[in-house]
Amino acid sequence: MTVQIGQIKIGGPAFTVIAGPCSIESEEQFRTTATAVKQSGASILRGGIWKMRTSSKSFQGLGSSAFEFIKKIKTEMNMTLISEITDIRQIEEVLHVVDAFQIGARNMHNYSLLKELGHQPKPVLLKRGFSAFIDEWIKAADYVTSGGNQQVILCERGIRTFETATRNTLDLNAVIYAKKHSPFPVIVDPSHAIGISSLVPQVCYAAAAAGADGLIIETHPNPAIALSDGPQALTLENFDLTMRQLEKVLHAFDRTLNKPV
Ligand code: PEP
Ligand code: MN
Repeated sequence: MTVQIGQIKIGGPAFTVIAGPCSIESEEQFRTTATAVKQSGASILRGGIWKMRTSSKSFQGLGSSAFEFIKKIKTEMNMTLISEITDIRQIEEVLHVVDAFQIGARNMHNYSLLKELGHQPKPVLLKRGFSAFIDEWIKAADYVTSGGNQQVILCERGIRTFETATRNTLDLNAVIYAKKHSPFPVIVDPSHAIGISSLVPQVCYAAAAAGADGLIIETHPNPAIALSDGPQALTLENFDLTMRQLEKVLHAFDRTLNKPV
């Protein structure tokens, strides 16, 4: 099946790249990022409004204070936005701002939140929990679809293993398996999977070669001063270089990139 966000179809023959900052930090940061990633070929934006941080003292996101400038930038850019929600009450609050809801790894098992998303019209990007079996992840999607909303995209973002050299361990098996054993499009988050920006491009190419339907990539105009996940963010220049190489990998598999509208 395919899932449509705006005019972009995810899960068809074309490959989709979603890109943007981990957190939306300011109007300027978001506009600069959106302009550059669209220019490089990303067709959907990402950006955190409410952040799930390990420490309660870390930046928690701009929340509703960012809604007006986010809507303005989306209109200027003619682009759609996917953003994470962490609480049932945020569904209604942010429905007029986002085009698809992201459920983060920490909330994959939050079945009441998933059930509620089954009763609203926008697509749901369901990340795999960092200790979830593939089967639990695919079954979690049913909590959305059983409410009526069939538009689920699965996202492999790396799991916890004994390995600590990289932030997580990308499970490409999960991508291949979920493509075969679930009806949903499957995308990869290379940024959280490896957690090291210089190594993110190769993860992108591997995911494309493995048959993923797309990528969700963290990018930042100046990763050194990012308020979250700077070490894994691609600069806008490196994002562009990565996109050019990615197109070559896709062509080798007779696939093309979903072009921004
Ligand atoms: C994110 O996308 O910024 C994020 C917090 O991801 P995850 O839920 O996969 O950790
Ligand atoms: Mn992040």
